[in-house]
Amino acid sequence: MNPYYSILTKAEDTGNLSAGEIKNLLDPPSSKEENELFKAADRVRQYYMGDEIWLRGIIEFSNKCSRNCIYCGLRAQNTKKWRYEMTVDEIVNTSKLIASLEIGTVVLQSGEYRSCPLEKLKTVIKRIKEIDLAITLSIGEYPRDIYRELKQAGADRFLLRHETADPDLYEELHPGYKIKDRINALKILKEEGYEVGCGFMVGLPGQTLDILAKDVLLCKDIEADMVGIGPFIPHPDTILKDEKQGDFQMTLRLLAAIRLVCRDVHLPATTAMATIDEFGREKAWQAGANVVMPTATPKPYRQAYELYPDKKCLEDSVEHCRGCLEMRILSVGRKVGIGQGGSYKKKKK
Ligand code: SF4
Repeated sequence: MNPYYSILTKAEDTGNLSAGEIKNLLDPPSSKEENELFKAADRVRQYYMGDEIWLRGIIEFSNKCSRNCIYCGLRAQNTKKWRYEMTVDEIVNTSKLIASLEIGTVVLQSGEYRSCPLEKLKTVIKRIKEIDLAITLSIGEYPRDIYRELKQAGADRFLLRHETADPDLYEELHPGYKIKDRINALKILKEEGYEVGCGFMVGLPGQTLDILAKDVLLCKDIEADMVGIGPFIPHPDTILKDEKQGDFQMTLRLLAAIRLVCRDVHLPATTAMATIDEFGREKAWQAGANVVMPTATPKPYRQAYELYPDKKCLEDSVEHCRGCLEMRILSVGRKVGIGQGGSYKKKKK
């Protein structure tokens, strides 16, 4: 048998691959094998996750950040940015709009504050819980007691992308921070009872296939409930502005590899994928993905939340996106998930 197909068969049957085998999977000899990779991931997605595509409404409630991740438009040293923080009422009213569109999860996202706005977040969480939405936080690294208090207030899930599993590359990208602390934060979140999401960027300067294979294995080791990946898109206000953008096909291959290795994780077709390919979301859903996360951040805030430039659908209201995404979901023969769409790992327990 073609050696590529024997690894692919093993991946589809068991999900148990070594780093070397994942590396081979990510480097198909031709587009024929690449298509087979996507089809195998799509079958595994169908088997473990069914045909629903889950919508999560994102509210980027603040672009304040004290970190300086060298790829990010929101980094503290970017003084060109107008910094904002939505009020409690603005966040809650936007959450009500999300719920009215039959989207069952709100994702509250921000940069990372020097000290967590804990009381405000607890108030927001408690008020959102009155409207019966699952709440995902995406606010960065904090000590265990903060995570615990937010969980006790009613938060359900937490996204904390690890960005890269390679310790040296991690430190280059995040001056002053270490991957071991990031991984530890992910473990603490699990221990505190959150459904947890990690994830990484594809096409970072200095990233190799070996590193990407390690990223896939890290997602499995963490037993992530969700994994968010997207191509690296250089931001003009960062020192990486002249670097090459991440490759779309490689991002799709990574999605497929994560589906094959991690099996029952939620896997979004990210906006960054749609930004670099008109049909990026549809292609992602056909290569293992089962989630999409429309932005509900009100104007003028959403224009100021620029992790990377030229973000897709920036001018479209969440009401418009809801209709557009449903049409796109139906166009690939799938259906919109109705409800909160929690972890499939928990379903099995
Ligand atoms: S990636 Fe997140 S933590 Fe890093 S600078 Fe951007 S907003 Fe801040």
